Amino acid sequence: MIRFFYNFLGRHIAAKYAGDIRARLSEDEWAELVALARAAQRTDPLFRAFTQPGASLDGSPIDPSRLAALLSRLKTVADFDAAMMPEAVLSNPVLNPYRRPAFRLLPEDLRATLSRTPIVATPRFRFEGFASKFRSSGRYFIQIPFGMTFVLRPLAEVSLGTYLSDSPESPDKLQVYLDALRVVVSELDAPSPQVFVRVNDALKGLTPPRLGVVHFAHLIGVFLMLHELGHVGLKHWTPDHMGTLSTEECIVLRNQEIAADRFAAGCILRTSRDRPVHWDDVREMHILWICQFLSAIELHLKGTRKEVPQHYPTFEERRLALLESFQAPHRLRSSVQLANELFARAVS
Ligand SMILES: [Zn+2]
Repeated sequence: MIRFFYNFLGRHIAAKYAGDIRARLSEDEWAELVALARAAQRTDPLFRAFTQPGASLDGSPIDPSRLAALLSRLKTVADFDAAMMPEAVLSNPVLNPYRRPAFRLLPEDLRATLSRTPIVATPRFRFEGFASKFRSSGRYFIQIPFGMTFVLRPLAEVSLGTYLSDSPESPDKLQVYLDALRVVVSELDAPSPQVFVRVNDALKGLTPPRLGVVHFAHLIGVFLMLHELGHVGLKHWTPDHMGTLSTEECIVLRNQEIAADRFAAGCILRTSRDRPVHWDDVREMHILWICQFLSAIELHLKGTRKEVPQHYPTFEERRLALLESFQAPHRLRSSVQLANELFARAVS
């Protein structure tokens, strides 16, 4: 009954959003969104396995029968139905929990325009997000992959778990969380349900306080959305070709990333551009979590020996820029430092 109600309400909210947004799109823009969802479904290995009978999941390190069980559970939620239909790219309820709070946190002068920027859930099981432009009009839209939510919870569990078990009384606990963190960071670019299942296994039933996990996961989802809205609100430049960037252009792109982070964190801290932050426990906690999230991606790159491209700041730079630009208090800086040292143990 609860699930039925949740599905019903989720569909209703998402359909209203989609109706409002679609009414403002040209036919060409709408066609681009549907084509984008179709292409995503065709190219994402996991979605391909659903939509094209016979497509294989070879190479996946998790048992296909467990993956199938997880995915059949998935099919009972409204979000998944929507992900299977390219025409529902705007009306997927999966983004409801992040979109509404993100809009509420936007600066007042930008709220009306930014909340009209289409935010679509593309059928991909990936952990990423983009601000893109319509080819037909040059207007912005934001893509968040459907599978993003599968990574938020594992990230929350390992981040909170490592941080809260840092005491001499619980060395075993800390070790379990560090092992699970190693799984997250080595598989961050794998199909996201795989991250979910593997981290669940690694945690061996251990979980940090549930409310904290939900809060952390939600905050990071909202941060990701606000970051992309920041690119739009700050009218950031998007190059036509990533392959031929000059040094100056790389600097512009790096600064834009830092600025989008600052925009998102500023919304979450509820601070206006030129006023200092009124730091309190909740604000410090939120920035600590965002920094842990950035550290996890940094570890992923380090662990998989991937280079951050020239046009992208390092995740350490992004973390430090946040602490600097909001003049983070000493306690927060040392918490971030501690969280980082703990994380580093997972891959040492
Ligand atoms: Zn960005």
